[in-house]
Amino acid sequence: MKEIQRIVCRSIATASLALCGVAAAESMTEVVAAGDTANWVIAIHGGAGSARRADLEPEMEAQIRADLIAALEAGAALLEQGAPGAEAIVAALTLLEDSPLFNAGRGAALDEHGQARHDASIMHGKDLAAGAIAGSSRIRNPIAAAHAVMASTRNVMLHGDGADWFAANNGLEMAEPTYFITARRYQSLLDERAKNTGPTAYVPSGDALYGTVGAVVLDRAGNLSAGTTTGGRTNKRFGRIGDTPIIGAGTYASNSSCAVSATGHGEYFMRWTVARDICARVELADESLEQAANTLLVDKLLPEGGTGGVVTMEPSGKTVFVATTANMRRGVMSSNTPPRVAVYSDEVVQ
Ligand code: ASP
Repeated sequence: MKEIQRIVCRSIATASLALCGVAAAESMTEVVAAGDTANWVIAIHGGAGSARRADLEPEMEAQIRADLIAALEAGAALLEQGAPGAEAIVAALTLLEDSPLFNAGRGAALDEHGQARHDASIMHGKDLAAGAIAGSSRIRNPIAAAHAVMASTRNVMLHGDGADWFAANNGLEMAEPTYFITARRYQSLLDERAKNTGPTAYVPSGDALYGTVGAVVLDRAGNLSAGTTTGGRTNKRFGRIGDTPIIGAGTYASNSSCAVSATGHGEYFMRWTVARDICARVELADESLEQAANTLLVDKLLPEGGTGGVVTMEPSGKTVFVATTANMRRGVMSSNTPPRVAVYSDEVVQ
């Protein structure tokens, strides 16, 4: 599985960033080292999936790249002013939740009842503060609600009607459940239903699974943060919660190790506590960030049938993307480098 087909390394002298990408058959590791002079860094993903170049319409691919750039710039504007990383994550991911092209907010994957039910979480690496919501159906921007749970309660996770009620009572924008449903996601649901009947009904296949969005940030104060938001998986069982709102599975941040946001087959990321295990390996087993992320994604999950990707960052601002799928929409920007994005696993961010 780890067979390396291609290694791409290059440095951008003017930007004081070095890029190094390693791609294998269906797996990709890309390292973006922040130079000594970076005051802040933001890196995002927009989900990992099986779509290849031929599968994506050019207009849609162009819009995905434009949305990723806009999200990086929205986060960067706050980081430049010295805002905490978690606020930059909310700004960046709100934009992607509002875009119908990602599996979060409007355009979220639909469950077996044809409803969008959202999971989101956020974590601050300085003090391990965290907030999450699961199974909400009326919060327009679930990542903002996760942030509100972190900022204004002493709890970590609220779910279902309780999450909706909390958001409505804390001044967050609400939406009718129909707002989230797009024709494209509805068609994906019909396709999944047609493909999967009987015992495999809850085992979705194909690209319809993916499109979750997430971000990791190093802010001006030197703190790491991570956040992730999703509609989960197409045709998911009513009430199913994935890894995204689970601190330690889909999201984790600690200044003493790293920040991680995951995307992929959530049941695997939960059982292997992927986000926390990557950071624990960095902190306790002396593995590099790229080694630790590969250990989880390539060595542990892939042989079991679990695919997906992570965006990770260490306290220096070094960013590592790892994916075991044909694409992972992603991007990175820092105080001294412009936004650069990529969609497929066989390209590097540019
Ligand atoms: N991890 C998400 C879930 O299983 C889905 C995804 O990232 O595409 O709910």
